[in-house]
Amino acid sequence: MNKSAYDVVVVGCGIVGAACAMEFAARGMRVAMVERDVIGSGATAAGMGHIVVMDDSEAQFALTRYSQQLWQELRPELPDDVEYEQCGTIWVAADEEEMEEVRRKHKYYQARGVPTEILDPHRLKTLEPNLRDGLVGGLLVPEDVVLYPPCAARFLVERAQKYGASLRTCVDIVQVGDKGVRLTDGEEIAAGIVVNATGASAPELAPGVEIKKRKGHLVITDRYPSFLRHQLVELGYLKSAHSISSDSVAFNVQPRRTGQILIGSSRQYGAEGSEVESGILMRMLQRAQEYMPALASLSALRAWTGFRAATPDKLPLIGPMPGEKTRFLAAGHEGLGITTSLGTARILADHITGSQPAIPIDPYLPSRVAKAYSHA
Ligand SMILES: Cc1cc2nc3c(=O)[nH]c(=O)nc-3n(C[C@H](O)[C@H](O)[C@H](O)COP(=O)(O)OP(=O)(O)OC[C@H]3O[C@@H](n4cnc5c(N)ncnc54)[C@H](O)[C@@H]3O)c2cc1C
Repeated sequence: MNKSAYDVVVVGCGIVGAACAMEFAARGMRVAMVERDVIGSGATAAGMGHIVVMDDSEAQFALTRYSQQLWQELRPELPDDVEYEQCGTIWVAADEEEMEEVRRKHKYYQARGVPTEILDPHRLKTLEPNLRDGLVGGLLVPEDVVLYPPCAARFLVERAQKYGASLRTCVDIVQVGDKGVRLTDGEEIAAGIVVNATGASAPELAPGVEIKKRKGHLVITDRYPSFLRHQLVELGYLKSAHSISSDSVAFNVQPRRTGQILIGSSRQYGAEGSEVESGILMRMLQRAQEYMPALASLSALRAWTGFRAATPDKLPLIGPMPGEKTRFLAAGHEGLGITTSLGTARILADHITGSQPAIPIDPYLPSRVAKAYSHA
């Protein structure tokens, strides 16, 4: 690998790689994108596409909110098939303890400029009549959005190409070196920088990187327009999403523009196969029916699974591999990579070009969880 043909090779064209490629190319860098399958075929094809502000930590809030604002800016340019809908999220409280969490979240978001509204049981039922009786209330976050991730990834890749980036699909990168990458067919692409954006596969090219696969199931129904208006998530979701040992399910439903309803979600560690597992699928659907009994009368069309890329501290890995100058990571986004793709790309490009970022990159730098990273 001699003279660099490219400034940067982005490995993986999921939503994160696509966003990075677009950001680099927009800044005038010479970009090559390489994808082992087709664009947006990994977790990006499996995800729900909920663009959601989260507050597990200040760092998570900063990246989700910043990214959501970048999606808002991009909205006028998004093609129709990205299905960007600002339907808002309602966090549903089933008991007084969860209502306490509603009030805490409301205060936290208000203090940081995120509009929210506390809902009493009557208003909750008015907004979402198919929720069961007896729920205690909820928190409406009106600026949250849903979109269709594979088309969003394709749009970002096309935008990168418009800025001059090249794309190769259906070819694996098997080795990342200091001066570029080697493909399955033996071809080498020389580049000053390599960005590993391969999601849950990131450790294959960067052994030692602490990313584990966290399997999730989703179900999509036939078309039932007006059945559901907001993304609904039980507040118990926060407890299950935090669990790092056991399998968990939570009520999480989403209205699609087609009138279909996307039903989630489950979380499993150690489940390596992509098959749909009836046991956890049934648990997930039962949980959904506990909150929305009328779901039982709808027809489901399809169920599928995907793998979130989970890090030990639930924050993504964005920045140079520890002790390195040419190999970078943009991976480990767990259940928030659709949301945080644009922010990830922006702060990574700022870091590489020496520009002042809107939010500090430090909480996401791979060096925080550095172990013994080594060459593939
Ligand atoms: C069930 C489920 C629900 C989710 N819901 C949401 C949600 O509502 N909101 C949200 O923000 N996030 C959600 N997520 C998370 C989100 O889908 C992911 O965080 C995001 O898609 C990660 O994108 P990525 O580009 O990092 O990874 P991926 O989409 O997995 O892309 C990685 C790409 O790299 C390619 N690749 C791998 N190895 C190589 C190689 N050696 N050479 C070349 N190419 C390679 C793969 O083929 C793949 O296309 C959900 C995830 C799941 C599983």
